[in-house]
Amino acid sequence: MPKLGVHVSIAGGIDKALDRAEELNCNTMQIFTKNNNRWKARELRPAEIERYHERQAETGIEPVVTHASYLINLGSPKYKLWEKSMAALVIELRRCEILKIPYLVLHPGAHVKSGREAGLKRVAEGLDMVHNATSGYQVKIALELTAGQGTVLGYQFDELSTIISKCQQHERLVVCFDTCHAIAAGYEFRNESAYQAMIDKFDTVIGLDKLVVIHLNDSIGDLGSRLDRHAHIGMGKIGLEPFGFFLNDSRFTDIPFLLETPQDVKIESDRENLARLRSLIDGVEDDA
Ligand SMILES: [Zn+2]
Ligand SMILES: [Zn+2]
Repeated sequence: MPKLGVHVSIAGGIDKALDRAEELNCNTMQIFTKNNNRWKARELRPAEIERYHERQAETGIEPVVTHASYLINLGSPKYKLWEKSMAALVIELRRCEILKIPYLVLHPGAHVKSGREAGLKRVAEGLDMVHNATSGYQVKIALELTAGQGTVLGYQFDELSTIISKCQQHERLVVCFDTCHAIAAGYEFRNESAYQAMIDKFDTVIGLDKLVVIHLNDSIGDLGSRLDRHAHIGMGKIGLEPFGFFLNDSRFTDIPFLLETPQDVKIESDRENLARLRSLIDGVEDDA
């Protein structure tokens, strides 16, 4: 049985996210540990942390993955924003460490018309500073493959591998693959042979040992559209079948598959998307 979960809300306390994931029969989940559209974060309350650890042990939901705030931009040519981004990232990593969360998913950044080379250099420098400020931490930053919208960096495997190789503590960096972003970035995987070729390419350029999280989202934009808009599973340009290639790949049995599909009808959407994915898993009885 693969690890399958959704991005859940932390409204009411971090521990409440585990209740929501359990309600959806998930054995993994993704959360924001703070408001993702604000810089400031309130301190985690000791009782909340304790309750979170208790509930995690009870539910057996693991790994828990965190997604970093969308405001963070380590590729920014504006010094103030770059500095603020590093400080915010350190805070996010500290929260992960307190909660014993192994991976923090991060969009590498955007160069904002300052050029790709310069952008990638700043991202790597920023990651170095953040690593130095968090020495000894267990949590790893998982750089997410992006859709390549605008001046966003990290939409090609070689850009992610460039960032990793430029970093001093590259062993602290891993990668998150997103199906919606990959199609939008121009990676074809909608038939079995294209899928195998793409995974081989990932292995050659980045290394499958670096792959620790897979986001399963369908895509509004077609191949190479560079549009970051997620669709419900099977309702976008990817279609249902290709998700089965990932879910049944024996190389990925320990990797958390996480949905970030639209929340228009909230919990019902999650239920339906999960049911569609579960119907693809080999050897699992379809209870529909
Ligand atoms: Zn993301
Ligand atoms: Zn994603």
